[in-house]
Amino acid sequence: MIRQLVYRSRASAQMSQVDLDKVTSDSLPFNLNNDVTGILLFDGEYFFQVLEGESNLIAGLYEHIQKDPRHGNIVKITDNAIHQRDFGDWALRTIKLDQKSGAYWLPSDLSLHRDSRIFGLLNGFASGKWRMCLSNKDLKALRASVVQDEISVAAYAQSDIQFAFQPIVDTHKGAIVSYEALLRSNDGRFPEDVLDSFHGSEKYQFDLNSKAIAVAQGAQILRPDQALAINLCPGAITHCPDITNYLLGLASDNNLKPQQLILEVTESEIIEEGALFFDAIENLRSREIRVALDDFGAGYAGLSLLADFLPDKIKLDRRITTNIHENGPRQAIFEAVYEFANSMGIPLIVEGVETMDEWLWLQHAGAQRFQGYLFARPKLNGVEKLNFVVNGINKAVNVRRFG
Ligand code: C2E
Ligand code: MN
Ligand code: MN
Repeated sequence: MIRQLVYRSRASAQMSQVDLDKVTSDSLPFNLNNDVTGILLFDGEYFFQVLEGESNLIAGLYEHIQKDPRHGNIVKITDNAIHQRDFGDWALRTIKLDQKSGAYWLPSDLSLHRDSRIFGLLNGFASGKWRMCLSNKDLKALRASVVQDEISVAAYAQSDIQFAFQPIVDTHKGAIVSYEALLRSNDGRFPEDVLDSFHGSEKYQFDLNSKAIAVAQGAQILRPDQALAINLCPGAITHCPDITNYLLGLASDNNLKPQQLILEVTESEIIEEGALFFDAIENLRSREIRVALDDFGAGYAGLSLLADFLPDKIKLDRRITTNIHENGPRQAIFEAVYEFANSMGIPLIVEGVETMDEWLWLQHAGAQRFQGYLFARPKLNGVEKLNFVVNGINKAVNVRRFG
């Protein structure tokens, strides 16, 4: 099977024409011997390479290329089987882009379909759309600090369940903006398992009842300027006769303002509940309780849901975040969601941030609010100590592949 792999990367140091010719002459013999075809573009700082060839060969070659010290910040854009090569005539052709040539740089003997994906990608690169990288100087100047001592609250008496709390941080402001309450059973089952051990209205009732514990424990953690995010299945919301007053009651019992409660709902279930759900949400909002769209990007409704229902917050699912610093499609998805959230004035929270590389990429792309193990894991009956301090990034930190 023939594969086509496309990546972009950034030169580690200044590249002269001689250096660039050497890249070509280093690769050419291998490509010729192994029937690898493709193109390499260089715009003075960034590379953009297309590799075509036998599947296994391309995987091995890409691994080899990733180790080449002449470039870093490597981002894989596409990698898939193809029926026919786009660059069948060229074992490797290197093109140095002219800064002034704008989008009209493509050599005339390159016969690509104007509506092909590769044509779009090449043009995208040539237009500079993908340029986004922190210089070493920027990295040294980067500052962020969010710190919080460990917090412990008493376990809820005589209960089979407790809650773990995880902070949502704004690394731009340097503060914890809210905490999410996550269901924990004493026998260590996952929240989904606990909920699924109940059926129909029992499940909803359990979910609703558990929030009394979540809010009581959360209230002991929150400062007045912080909010508590609680999860409810949309079914629990629509099956509760008066969800608004139930939640307002929990808030006032624990001396919280309604604005301090954020209801998180996942997109996949919302659809099933339809109009009833949207009515309930309107009602909650009329009393200042906000609603976050959880796990956005993981479900099925996707963008069409947003056309009908604008949440107060969007939480971008972990599946988009993971390794975003080296994944072209995820980066493009992030940018689209970010753009949307901004134009609608909806704060975006990025979930599941586990590494510095991911955070560096995301914060440089504009994200401000994050949740994830990089900052703190959920802690049972409390909050884990948080000590996120960035005092300039030096080379020791892996930002090589930051794209
Ligand atoms: P969620 O609302 O998206 O909550 C975030 C989940 O991601 C939590 O899993 C959390 O522990 C995990 N997480 C946070 N940061 C990271 C990270 O950096 N990496 C990774 N790999 N995971 C991270 P958890 O606690 O297992 O909860 C799973 C899901 O169960 C929740 O996803 C939520 O949808 C549901 N859930 C939790 N508590 C409740 C509840 O009280 N009611 C309802 N209906 N659902 C709940
Ligand atoms: Mn959630
Ligand atoms: Mn989530």
